[in-house]
This record gives sequence, C-alpha cells and structure tokens, in this order.
Amino acid sequence: MADTLHLQIVTPDKLLVRDDADQVQIPGKSGYLGILPGHAPLITALMLGEISYSHAGATHYFAVAWGFAEVLPDKVTILADSAERAEDIDVKRAQEAKARAEEALRQAAPDLDYDAVQYALRRAEVRLEVAARAGHTAAAH
Ligand code: ATP
Repeated sequence: MADTLHLQIVTPDKLLVRDDADQVQIPGKSGYLGILPGHAPLITALMLGEISYSHAGATHYFAVAWGFAEVLPDKVTILADSAERAEDIDVKRAQEAKARAEEALRQAAPDLDYDAVQYALRRAEVRLEVAARAGHTAAAH
C-alpha cells in the first residue's frame, strides 16, 4: 500500500498545490474527513472550511469555499471554487468583508439577500480562522 498521498488543489485560476502528503483533512459534506494513504475511493462535495495536510513534519493550512474532492487510495484531488493558503490570506480584506456583512445584517434592509450575506460572513470568518493558523494577523499588513 502506498504510504504517501499525491495531493492537488486546483482553483478556477490556478494549480494551488501539487505536493505529497502523509495525511489530508478536508471539509466534506458530512463533516471533516481525515484521509490517510490507502483510503477507500470516494467523491464528496466540499463545504466552507479548512483544508490541511501534513508532509515532512510540516502542516499546511488553506481556507476553502465549496467544490469537490476525489479521494483515491494514493491521490486526493480537490477542485475548489476558491482556496487560499493561510499565508496568502489578506487579513485586512477578510476583516473588511466580515464588517460589511455584519453591518448589512444589522441594517436588515428589506431587500437584503440574507443567505448571500450569511455566506459572505462565514467565508470571511473562515479566512480569519485559517490565517490565524499561520500566525498571520492584521498587524502583519
Ligand atoms: P471580498 O468581499 O473581500 O471580495 P469574497 O468572499 O466576496 O471577498 P470570493 O468571491 O470568495 O471573495 O473570492 C474571490 C477571489 O478573491 C478568490 O480568488 C479568492 O481566493 C480571493 N479572496 C477573497 N478574499 C480573500 C482574502 N481575504 N485573502 C486572499 N484572497 C481572497
């Protein structure tokens, strides 16, 4: 049995990751899935959340918003609507997106698209949580 997974994370604009991994965690449709080499094949929708993988003693974190993952015993392929490395997350931008969404919810205008604003708020919160994983704060910007 393979003892390494080949991981690819692809977004609409780029191949974000092509690397080997000892294990991968993804936000699947029914909760977080921990994938080790030799995992049974499956395809799952991805939710909003954090992807992480470890390789050579280091763990890498990503914020992800929707998409699909295909798991094979020696390979994990993630097609994400959007995904960012923890280190690349623009914390100020996420804080501003969060503040905008919170303000829209506070104002509760009659034509507010509640679901869209809730979703924008969660995207921003996930980005902030994942950025914090990399010790990345607004002060760094
Ligand atoms: P904003 O309101 O700040 O534009 P958003 O949640 O509406 O955020 P998305 O539509 O989810 O943004 O993403 C659009 C593109 O911008 C994607 O490529 C995504 O990876 C990138 N992106 C969005 N927010 C950030 C961020 N805080 N840091 C880095 N990249 C981001």
